[in-house]
Amino acid sequence: MTTAISLSDVTVSFNGTTALDRFDLDVPSGALTAVVGPSGCGKTTALRAIAGFQTITTGTITLNGQLVATETTNTPPERRGVGMVFQEFALFPHISVAENVGYGVRGADRVDRVRRTLRLVGLEGYEDRFPHELSGGEQQRVALARALAPGPDVVLLDEPFSNLDAPQRERMRRELRRIIHSVGVTAVLVTHDQAEALAVGDRIAVMSEGRVVQSGTPVEVYARPVSPWVARFLGEAMILDGVAEGGAIDTGIGVVPTSLADGASAKVMVRPEWVRPTVVDHGVGKIVDREFYGHDQRVAIRLDDGTSIDALLPGSIDVALGERVDVEIDDAIVYFTNDTAGAR
Ligand code: ATP
Repeated sequence: MTTAISLSDVTVSFNGTTALDRFDLDVPSGALTAVVGPSGCGKTTALRAIAGFQTITTGTITLNGQLVATETTNTPPERRGVGMVFQEFALFPHISVAENVGYGVRGADRVDRVRRTLRLVGLEGYEDRFPHELSGGEQQRVALARALAPGPDVVLLDEPFSNLDAPQRERMRRELRRIIHSVGVTAVLVTHDQAEALAVGDRIAVMSEGRVVQSGTPVEVYARPVSPWVARFLGEAMILDGVAEGGAIDTGIGVVPTSLADGASAKVMVRPEWVRPTVVDHGVGKIVDREFYGHDQRVAIRLDDGTSIDALLPGSIDVALGERVDVEIDDAIVYFTNDTAGAR
């Protein structure tokens, strides 16, 4: 896996606000990396710094082995080989689809390149239409085609789906993955929506307060979050308190192995889909609520010691209110309470 984009120790400040705070990110070549974090954490600033629209205060940015930004140098955007796609599409309203897509394309094969790119995004035959004659999803495809047509090394997408309705958004996510992989271009997509990041990214980088706090494949980051904050940001997480004793922590719903020393306080994170209740005669608690969604269901369990926990189960499992259950957990993550690393 070669690195296409590398930001190292990058700081960006705006009169007193630190938007990027010693930011580090390595983006692999030919894959789609989703950068996700809450509003205001610096996602757009990171994208603008990669594109060259934002100068950096400290650190370095390297694009395909070329140093493009330092404290004192800034290669202009048009010399970085980067295409951009924005939330608001930003098409030129008075020129046709073909002219929009061909805008940054030079050379004898311009017409052919525009036609091929439109075919790639599923808009063959739309050459002569104008942006106002297209649906939101089609406009976003044109914006993507315009970014891809000049043959950039890197495509940067800033919340590209947020102006689309839910069905269009899902369709475009799948389309985007197909297109990015078929072209083999490196892509970075910024979103505040964790479900979108998990669904669309080959890799994801989770940001908080100007830094990347964890990166990896969606499965790694979801199943092995480095802190309770990342765990909660990416999905539902129950955090139970416990104390290490003889290489394990008894959470009340299961015993979790740990390397923490005896007496160390810990937080144990459990996702609801890791909780497995079994209906029995006596058990450790009972089912007090059930919300049925069809494909799955949420079951609320009250343990006899007063603890409430949720389990997410396949919809096909038949459970009823008031039934007594035993509970096991399939997985859990232990955090040492005094360990604040990555706990932003
Ligand atoms: P959102 O998801 O809301 O778009 P974001 O994660 O993309 O947020 P940025 O737009 O990068 O966040 O902003 C990061 C921080 O920098 C914020 O506190 C913001 O107010 C500040 N900021 C961004 N641009 C400027 C600017 N041009 N002048 C001053 N402050 C700015």
